[in-house]
Amino acid sequence: MNVLVINCGSSSLKYQVIDSETEQVLAKGLCERIGIDGRLVYTPAGGEKEVSDLDMPTHKQAIQFVIDALTNEKTGVIASLDEIGAVGHRLVHGGEKFACSTRITDEVIRAVEECSDLAPLHNPANLIGVRACQELMPNTPQAGVFDTAFHQTMPTEAYMYGIPYEYYEKYRVRKYGFHGTSHSFVSKRTAELVGKPIEDLKIIVCHLGNGASICAVDGGKSVDTSMGLSPLEGLIMGTRSGDIDPSAMEFLCKKENLDITGILEVLNKKSGVQGLSGVSSDFRDLQAGSDEGNERCTMAVDVFCYRVLKYIGAYVAAMNGVDAIAFTAGLGENDSVVRRKIVSRLGYLGIALDDAVNDSTRGKEAVISTADSKVPVWVVPTNEELAIARETVALVK
Ligand code: AMP
Repeated sequence: MNVLVINCGSSSLKYQVIDSETEQVLAKGLCERIGIDGRLVYTPAGGEKEVSDLDMPTHKQAIQFVIDALTNEKTGVIASLDEIGAVGHRLVHGGEKFACSTRITDEVIRAVEECSDLAPLHNPANLIGVRACQELMPNTPQAGVFDTAFHQTMPTEAYMYGIPYEYYEKYRVRKYGFHGTSHSFVSKRTAELVGKPIEDLKIIVCHLGNGASICAVDGGKSVDTSMGLSPLEGLIMGTRSGDIDPSAMEFLCKKENLDITGILEVLNKKSGVQGLSGVSSDFRDLQAGSDEGNERCTMAVDVFCYRVLKYIGAYVAAMNGVDAIAFTAGLGENDSVVRRKIVSRLGYLGIALDDAVNDSTRGKEAVISTADSKVPVWVVPTNEELAIARETVALVK
């Protein structure tokens, strides 16, 4: 079955068509600047990337252009829409309502809408994509795969914040966690690579990309994760602050004459390694700056790595041990310097890094610890689209 995987944002939309039998990507791309002007990027497997400026006033129009590209006589990958067996949507916030993926029904849409005040930027945009697909493909089954669902197994002690309980009762303010599709996919794959049943393993997954989070996976279940009510908590990220004393917000609001929206804009978009370095949110730029002697670039990377190191320690404690550590996402898969800075400080766990393998590992599966390391450390590329396609097939079959 071919699955159309959609990740819909407020003005953009990423898509892939995946053949679920071979798990090959038939075509992928994105629509950008929806509602502004519009641009379609389309890459068929083995073909040239095409970029077209097209008028995209709505998401429905954007998805129509995607369908046109997929069924184009010359460069398309399917003859007609009938060859799409299902649509899988990435949905960001399922609150406490969704502990697993689900077939999309009117009731599910209403429930996702009810979670929207927990993710006001993401959920409404995700649902626009769902509705547009329903209109354009009314007979094709659709599934929703939530970023938060994998973490619904966290115990109360891990997800409660130390604030008045009534805020949890009234508004469900608690830790939810994100990147769940990735943490689930990578932990499963790590267990396969380690060669043991996931039920018997304690795995720490470090998803280090522009957005970054860590997850403690005990017996295949998420028992703690670094992101919280929103994706702002936890690690230092490309432009997000991660953990910070909430009092700093009031202090900065007064000093900088900001309101709550203004300070959240700073913490989400101007902080992280971008804010620390003053150079870039991209670690390749920070590495180049560091090589040229820019001390703030070096400091930003060090602060980032130290926060990861602390969370690993915390999750070893939370699980009373660890059997494998996995690095994934843009940085985790590609940046050997960041991996070395973190893993070389895990000697207390009997972990030893194989520097040569680490240095040569980019974007591929590899064990980067030495043969006698007490705990294996793996690089495991994530594939959220494939995970969404697999979940979708399982739901619609
Ligand atoms: P992601 O959000 O998973 O796409 O990760 C994006 C981040 O990964 C970028 O900001 C880069 O800092 C980092 N990254 C991607 N490719 C490389 C690479 N080849 N070497 C070092 N860092 C990389």
